Amino acid sequence: PSPAPSPLLDGLNAEQAAAVTLPDAHALILAGAGSGKTRVLTTRIAWLLHMGRVSPGGILAVTFTNKAAREMQARLGAMLPLNIRGMWMGTFHGLCNRMLRAHHQAAQLPATFQILDMQDQQSAIKRLIKQFGVDEERFPPKQVMWFINGCKEEGMRPGDVSVRDEESRKKVELYQLYQDQCQREGVVDFAELLLRSYELLRDHAPIRDHYQRRFRHILVDEFQDTNRLQYLWLKQLAGTGSSVFAVGDDDQSIYAFRGARVGNMADFVREFDVQHQIKLEENYRSHGHILDSANALIAHNTQRLGKNLRTAQGAGEPVRVFEAPSDLAEAAWLVDEMKHLSRDDGVPLHEIAVLYRSNAQSRVIETALAQSGLAYRVYGGLRFFERAEIKHALAYLRLLETPSDDTSFLRVVNFPARGIGARSIEALQTQARALGLPLYTAAKGMTGRAGTLLQSFVALIEVMREQAQGLSLREVVDLMLEQSGLVEHYRGERDGGDRIENLQELASAAEAFVRLEGFHTDQAALPTTSEGVTLTQGLASQGLSGDALDQAMLESRDAPGGQPAPDYVDLDTGETLSPLAAFLTHAALEAGDNQAQAGQDAVQLMTVHASKGLEFDVVFITGLEEGLFPHENSAADTAGLEEERRLMYVAITRARQRLYLSHTQTRLLHGQSRYNFRSRFLDEVPSECVQWLTPKSGGFGSGVGASLAHGGQYGRMPAWSKDSGFGRSASNAYPGQPAWSAPNLTNAPLERPPVQTSAGQALRAGMQVFHNKFGEGKVLAVEGSGTDGKAQVSFTRHGTKWLSLAVAKLTVVE
Ligand code: ATP
Ligand code: MG
Repeated sequence: PSPAPSPLLDGLNAEQAAAVTLPDAHALILAGAGSGKTRVLTTRIAWLLHMGRVSPGGILAVTFTNKAAREMQARLGAMLPLNIRGMWMGTFHGLCNRMLRAHHQAAQLPATFQILDMQDQQSAIKRLIKQFGVDEERFPPKQVMWFINGCKEEGMRPGDVSVRDEESRKKVELYQLYQDQCQREGVVDFAELLLRSYELLRDHAPIRDHYQRRFRHILVDEFQDTNRLQYLWLKQLAGTGSSVFAVGDDDQSIYAFRGARVGNMADFVREFDVQHQIKLEENYRSHGHILDSANALIAHNTQRLGKNLRTAQGAGEPVRVFEAPSDLAEAAWLVDEMKHLSRDDGVPLHEIAVLYRSNAQSRVIETALAQSGLAYRVYGGLRFFERAEIKHALAYLRLLETPSDDTSFLRVVNFPARGIGARSIEALQTQARALGLPLYTAAKGMTGRAGTLLQSFVALIEVMREQAQGLSLREVVDLMLEQSGLVEHYRGERDGGDRIENLQELASAAEAFVRLEGFHTDQAALPTTSEGVTLTQGLASQGLSGDALDQAMLESRDAPGGQPAPDYVDLDTGETLSPLAAFLTHAALEAGDNQAQAGQDAVQLMTVHASKGLEFDVVFITGLEEGLFPHENSAADTAGLEEERRLMYVAITRARQRLYLSHTQTRLLHGQSRYNFRSRFLDEVPSECVQWLTPKSGGFGSGVGASLAHGGQYGRMPAWSKDSGFGRSASNAYPGQPAWSAPNLTNAPLERPPVQTSAGQALRAGMQVFHNKFGEGKVLAVEGSGTDGKAQVSFTRHGTKWLSLAVAKLTVVE
């Protein structure tokens, strides 16, 4: 039957429209980057609602980030005059959290369970390892953490893990201890959110039945990056009346290292008996040269399901490649380029993205940006909610909410310093263990000087909790900032200014959260008992939990209704989380979003991983060097290398109009200077698509010497064409330089100052030189230009060395 016409379908191509209007049945949309998968998924939701095939409460949609969920929600809100609060839309973690909040008793969790991020998790494990006298060298906390998370992602509890040897026995033992500790403290880590939620559905038929009836349509974006457990969770949720609509791209599977299984796609088709598979082959995002580059690159992978992508847009500009002598020069060039883009071409800063393989690369770029005065925003790295001062503040808030949270207790019991030493804390831990009590409670029974100090800390928290009664969330945060001594502490620090600003930002974030989530600011933010385990009843009376949709449905087993379901409601009691508890959950789940700078027009810096699903007019991919990208940890085997290549494919396909690729000859990374071959990926991009801004040096594997002989100088480069999508005229880009006209992509030779000694003598490979300490030697290679250069010299007596020519006292002998 032909689908009913709807304005929602306007502008979609035939395959997209077919996907949007598929009948109620399982479907897989397998398509390359920028082909409109996310757009199709969003439009399908709108279409289903518009056609009355389902109510908002009957939809569950999984997105890759919280940000994506918000954007999708906003777009839907704009398309439809419907209240869509009843829809479940978010990340796997966010949705599992919501489910566990609603059924915490069945899931055997306290109502106010707290979420541990990776940092907290690692320190909790470290604490255990110390406590049980396990050898930290043999069992590094981080490794144990990956082991535990790996087990959980496979759906395994300690009892399910097969023990092979002494080492695995120990690890399983630690897993068990860790699990018990979390249960005692009422905390869950990220992997636990999923596992617990999966077990909840698996083991509680009424709850499973309820959700299976409720969610008639389950839609999953970025399906290629689901792991085993997420797949099993979806399987539990999908009942006989549900349709799962999965969209994905096997070429963009980049989370294998975290357990993602591309195989889930094939399993899905088989196990769900998928009848509808649609391919989208038109790319709407990128210009031709960019897309051709991506296609050619990914063709080097052997493990592919095979797809084609074409674009109706013209070839556009060539992909620009730049070679810098050093990471500093790369950053300087970036900034220079961005200034031109912004000032001369009118590109908004937020349409410019700088991508890198490793977080460590961002520092140099950030420094250059900060000096240039260009606004920028970093995603990932040390995120707002992960900063030390914010974590300290959150720990205080968590203690107000959940005193049994030992991780938070330990974080702030002596921060700011209160004279409570490591010894006292050890004594307290021993005591708490012996009595089976949380540290907070055990502190009340401690004696001596340590006891007095510990009790005054507990008193501080209790007084705060008392004073917080009746205050809004923002006021509670302000109160905590003053009373805890945090602000005062940072005021006394030399570089504490930023930290204080961040703390103030936390207060603003709290206020914004209350507004967004629809909490009323005049509600009591805190539980009413001093132990903090009971929730405030205030919210229930203010109408937030009155219409507990799921509660009603669980009882009546009714068809899905359309009322909004509150986000944090306890379905056993009808209680709603306090704004504070909800905010703490939000802080743990949304660590990725830096709200502090949202809305500001700023250049976007992020890792390639974090860029998935996003798009920008201009993209810079930096650090294209062997060992860095592809990363040395992954390049050893084919599977690792192919995943790196998929990462590169993701990176390239983020760009709409202009793409820059850059690599450097030397880079200071992790305190070490490295001399780099350019990435093989640069050679996998067809030369017809590429314009070298610096002369192309010897290819991958051709030797440092050969490649360095043409060292780059970033100040001197050709301007681009008049056909530029941004309309900058070639003549004013770099005055005095020859303009190149696309599509003629010949690499015009560039004049560069020769590499020179500090005395001004030109230096070439093969020359005999004299150094006043190392004696005679022969130049093997030179890099860089002018006196900024470096030379590799083989000395007769002292072996081969790299020398910085600005510093080395080198004279040419012949
Ligand atoms: P990725 O694999 O990177 O996640 P995707 O397949 O999800 O990409 P979208 O982000 O949905 O692709 O779409 C890419 C861009 O193309 C978006 O800007 C989107 O609005 C646009 N687009 C998609 N379909 C069409 C269409 N039919 N007409 C015009 N623009 C479209
Ligand atoms: Mg997408």
